Amino acid sequence: DTNEMTMIFESRPVNEGLARIAAAAFCTQLNPTLEEVSDLKTAVSEAVTNCIIHGYEGEIHKIHMTCRRQGQEIQIDIADEGAGIENIEKAMEPLYTTRPDKDRSGMGFTFMEAFMDQVTVESEVGKGTIVHMKK
Ligand code: ATP
Ligand code: MG
Repeated sequence: DTNEMTMIFESRPVNEGLARIAAAAFCTQLNPTLEEVSDLKTAVSEAVTNCIIHGYEGEIHKIHMTCRRQGQEIQIDIADEGAGIENIEKAMEPLYTTRPDKDRSGMGFTFMEAFMDQVTVESEVGKGTIVHMKK
């Protein structure tokens, strides 16, 4: 049993809330617990915020979010066509940030990994980044 939804929105901070609510609404078809919904919303927030701040560095471009259900599993892909990540392994380490000046704590990927069952990242410098998450 599968279902899929794709949303494309501009990299404006206000749309972070839109993305997390859309992802939460999509996952209600699985009758999730409140905790599961809250975990998913946190992970989506972190990934979208990263596209806005790091991927596009405040410029306005498109972010793509695909939510997919496969049986009892929810898969969420969040993608930008921005700066890309030079060293993915390093970027995913707790407390690693390239923007300490912007009050970042370097915990986004750590939260995504804590709140979802699987997080994988594909990225190319100058091309963009896709974060795949499963729960
Ligand atoms: P926090 O999420 O705690 O505010 P942060 O965003 O720096 O801080 P992470 O979300 O863990 O921490 O990301 C780590 C680093 O990975 C970022 O500092 C940035 O260099 C890089 N990064 C993450 N997402 C992207 C992206 N979509 N495009 C380009 N670089 C990214
Ligand atoms: Mg972050």
